[in-house]
Order: sequence, then C-alpha cells, then structure tokens
Amino acid sequence: MDQTPGRIRAALLGWYDAHARSLPWRVGPAEHARGLRPDPYRVWLSEVMLQQTTVAHATGYFLDFIRRWPTVGDLADAPDSEVMGAWAGLGYYARARNLIACARAVAREHHGVFPDTEEALLALPGVGPYTAAAVAAIAFDRPSNVVDGNVERVISRLYAVEAPMPAAKLELKTFAAGLVAAERPSDWAQALMDLGATVCRPKSPLCDRCPVAFACAALALGDPERYPRKTSKAERPRRHGAAFVLTHAGRVALERRPAKGLLGGMLGLPTTDWRGERPSPSDIRASAPAADWRAQGAVEHVFTHFSLTLEVWRAEAGAADPKLIWLPTEEAAQSLPSVFLKALRAGLETLI
Ligand code: SF4
Repeated sequence: MDQTPGRIRAALLGWYDAHARSLPWRVGPAEHARGLRPDPYRVWLSEVMLQQTTVAHATGYFLDFIRRWPTVGDLADAPDSEVMGAWAGLGYYARARNLIACARAVAREHHGVFPDTEEALLALPGVGPYTAAAVAAIAFDRPSNVVDGNVERVISRLYAVEAPMPAAKLELKTFAAGLVAAERPSDWAQALMDLGATVCRPKSPLCDRCPVAFACAALALGDPERYPRKTSKAERPRRHGAAFVLTHAGRVALERRPAKGLLGGMLGLPTTDWRGERPSPSDIRASAPAADWRAQGAVEHVFTHFSLTLEVWRAEAGAADPKLIWLPTEEAAQSLPSVFLKALRAGLETLI
C-alpha cells in the first residue's frame, strides 16, 4: 500500500478533473484552471447551508437566496423576517441569524468584500473554523485544511483510524493536513468532499471506482464501512408539547417566536412549553388561544439535542384575534420551520 501524499493527491485531483460534481456555487476544475474564481459570497452561503444538510436539500434554498439577494450587500439590507422566512425548512435557525450578522459585517466593515484569509474570515460573526477554512480554500485558493463530515469519513478509512468519533477528530484533521499542499488548494478541498459524497459513501462505499483505493488502509483490512469508528450513542431525551392550529376564513394563526432560544425569531404555531412530560389539560388551557379545540393526533420531530412529540389541536376561530399573525394557509406552510409545518399538516389533515 502506497500512502505517499503526492501520489494520493495526484490520483484524487485527476479523478476530480473528470468527475467533479456540477454545483450552482462552484467553479469546476476546467474553468478554475482557466483562471475563473468562484464568488466568495456564494461559497460562504453554500457552506453555511450545507452544514448538517444535503446538497439536494440545500440547492433549492441556495438558488432562492441568490435570486432574492444576488450580493452580500443585498442580503445585508434584507429585513431579518424575510431572511428567516426564506431559511424556514433548513433547520438550525441560529445559523440564519448568524448569516444575517455576517452579511452585515462584510457589507459594513469590509465594504461588501469578503476577507481572503482564514484568520480574517474567522473574525466574522458566526464564521467558525470549518467555514473559514472552506471559504479561504475554495474561494481564495488558500492551502487551508477543510475537514467536513465527508472528509472525516474518507480520512478515517484511508488511514484506518481506530479511535472512535468524536474523539478521533483531531487525529483525522492531522492526517488530512498532511495531504494539503500549495498546489490547487481549492480543487483539493472540493475533490475530497466529492469523493466522500459520491464514492466513499457512508454505506456501501464504491471502492472499485475509488481513485485512492491503492492507498486505503480500511480497504486493505477488508471492512471499510467499519470506519469511522463510533462510540455507542446515548439516546436523545424526549420532550412533549402541544401545538394549536387555529383557522379563520382560510387563514391560520401564527406567532413570532422570541428572538433568543430554539427556532428564535421564526414564525411558529402557538404551543405549550416543550417539557419532559406530556402537557396536562391545564397546560393546554393556559397556552391555547380561546376556542373549541379538537385533538388531531401527534407528530414527531427530531432536533439536535432532543426528540419531540407534539400533540396537535385544531379549532376554527369565530374572529381573527389581532394579537396573532394570520397568514393564508399556503403562505403559512411556506414560512414555517419543519416541526410546525408537520403540525400544520396534521391539523389541517389533507387540506394542504
Ligand atoms: Fe473510501 Fe473505499 Fe476509497 Fe477507501 S477505497 S477511500 S473506503 S471508497
């Protein structure tokens, strides 16, 4: 097995030249070789969206953002509520708030131009080490060590790293750093990501099509899927709550959630607090707008740190309470984060 960094790099970059994914924020290897560079705003936006979600899911959101706000200055000028609404469904809403803060910092403190070093990018609000490394490498051809989940998987297999995740992260980063070089850093970062996404997949990796199979320790050991090693996961705690679907004249009642906390600043259905035990009838009476409520079953949603069982209650209001935000049902469906969209659908059954 030959794990010489130069040989691994040449093989993977050669593969990338022929198999790079075509992505709306990307400048492909041929155009890159001709001197074209990607728009740092697009690279940054895509990287923020792609954290914890798939390319397929993020692409529609990315295109919508670029259409509405073609430059970082446009995004900086947008009202918070519009950006939060456009983000609805992508999850991790703190990220949307950081996105707005970062766009404004770039527009106001950097005259609308993203800084071009990892260090300066890291100083922007909401930009962590991963995003700073990714933007520096992909947009500015800096030799940064860009290690996302896909890259961790590839590296863990290439070097058959036995330490379990997440403790292995530093070791994986160190191995990945040994493969970074001054030549083609942008293409290198994206080649590793593409290999992880399309060939070195979590399940059933396509080792017979892998350009670095000659160097892969996990393949040599005969069980690539064994890596990255995992510690047994503690089960997420479960919380319970109730959500209220109140309609009047084709509109549904929503509330703006407090700026801080889970789903902060987003639109949501009125709900009880989400706690360790099921809401009691008095919890429900205390949180539900006054109406004649009917139980509509429950929906399940998984957040990063807990699972939620949300009972859904439905009522038709005699009049539209002005303390609530009344949106046409379709518009409400497009503005709500996934957990409330599920509850709305359950509340309205097959109406939307
Ligand atoms: Fe991944 Fe298989 Fe390639 Fe190893 S040989 S890097 S396990 S795809």
